Amino acid sequence: MAPPFPPPPSRPSPNPAPIRRDPDVLVIGGGVVGLFCAYYLRRAGNGVTVVERGPLGGPQSCSYGNTGFVGTQGALPLAEPGVMAQGLRWLLNPESPFYIRPRPDPELLSWLRHFRRACNERDAKAGFRVLVDLKKRSLDILRELCTPGDLASTFTARGMLLAYRTPQGFEKARRSVPGTVASGVPLRVLEPGELGVLEPDAEFDIHGALYNEEGACLRVPEFVTGLARTLEGMGVEIHERTEVVGFEVAGREIRRVRTTRGDLSPRETVVAAGTWSAECARGLGLGLRLQPAKGYSVTVRAPANAPRLPVLLGEGKVAIVPLGDRLRFGGTLELSGLDATISRRRVDGILRTVHTYLPKLESTEILETWSGFRPCSPDGLPYLGRAGPYRNLSVACGHGHIGMGLAPVSGRLIAQIVAGERPETDLTPLRPDRHGGRTRFRLRS
Ligand SMILES: Cc1cc2nc3c(=O)[nH]c(=O)nc-3n(C[C@H](O)[C@H](O)[C@H](O)COP(=O)(O)OP(=O)(O)OC[C@H]3O[C@@H](n4cnc5c(N)ncnc54)[C@H](O)[C@@H]3O)c2cc1C
Repeated sequence: MAPPFPPPPSRPSPNPAPIRRDPDVLVIGGGVVGLFCAYYLRRAGNGVTVVERGPLGGPQSCSYGNTGFVGTQGALPLAEPGVMAQGLRWLLNPESPFYIRPRPDPELLSWLRHFRRACNERDAKAGFRVLVDLKKRSLDILRELCTPGDLASTFTARGMLLAYRTPQGFEKARRSVPGTVASGVPLRVLEPGELGVLEPDAEFDIHGALYNEEGACLRVPEFVTGLARTLEGMGVEIHERTEVVGFEVAGREIRRVRTTRGDLSPRETVVAAGTWSAECARGLGLGLRLQPAKGYSVTVRAPANAPRLPVLLGEGKVAIVPLGDRLRFGGTLELSGLDATISRRRVDGILRTVHTYLPKLESTEILETWSGFRPCSPDGLPYLGRAGPYRNLSVACGHGHIGMGLAPVSGRLIAQIVAGERPETDLTPLRPDRHGGRTRFRLRS
């Protein structure tokens, strides 16, 4: 077992000076979602403060070590028909890409009940349509934001590959192409010979591949830290190592937000604390059903024969992303609570999967092994919107395995909600109370 990453140095704060200025809008959480909320809220003319429990862009955040795939790929919710049965089979395999640690946790059991309910054809298709639309809007935002400018070096949009080792895996993927294309995703089957043109250095041992020309990727954590610098340039205050520890409520108003650096009285508050949003909002009686879904990434020095494009290894559920002089592999989904321990066997499972698809990939120095918690809702859709019964509270969380690709539009939607404008897209499927809403209406003051 490798040691887990160090806990976020939250308390005591190295800079205990109280935050002096009350913002118009306080954003809780400095991951990619919180930062995009801050970006659009500031553009709308608000005074914005972001508080982040750890260092901004640090490893405590899920936005730190992920594979950064954005664009239209990956919009299928985790909850799809057949996934429960597959999950049960994988439970017995310590190197499998999906694992649930059995435990008598009422939050987990409730989450699994909602998850099982969402595992049907109709909900999966409806969820897919919503997510594709949100991902397309986000991709447009990223294209505009990142080209040209300071963030340009952190965004690449040259398409992506989906590689399949087995005839069955490839056949299933091939059959899904027409439906996926009809939903607006430009996916196509690669002709023999095309793979070699797109990937002249890498030697794949696969049965077939698909190509999505709208595949793009962000280099993380550089994109996140770069976006934070952009925000500071726009006048957003970012306070690192500052944790929200409670709220003071009067009627339907959040009056004060308690932080480790004093109380703040913002006009509006946005909870964008990733998987910790549920815990953060629980004191307000909100029943957000979120489970931390642990994933791992391994970053190595880029070998000379590395793929040039981002690649998803279909059956193995491992993503490969080129990051200049580094190459990152990411995968596994473990529902084992907030346990950041890195399991050597699962990491080995990821490396073995990569080796089976790319047997000649030169092995190079491992630079970093990381685990992070995807903030997963049961139906795979984010929670986005006003958090009733409060008039001045919104939530933006639950972005699961595609938060990098959904964050930009999530930020814009939150800014529209806070401004009292009609959101650019129907938010009904994303309502924060759709899985039961308030647990108990318990006010803490
Ligand atoms: C292995 C792996 C690979 C992935 N690959 C991709 C990918 O290719 N494409 C993609 O789109 N997505 C990917 N994801 C998912 C993506 O990383 C997440 O969806 C996204 O980072 C979530 O962002 P967030 O801002 O909601 O949460 P986070 O990034 O976790 O940010 C939340 C922040 O809130 C802070 N916080 C919590 N509580 C408090 C508090 N009380 N006070 C102050 N601050 C607080 C935390 O410290 C944290 O920094 C991957 C995830 C993993 C694990």
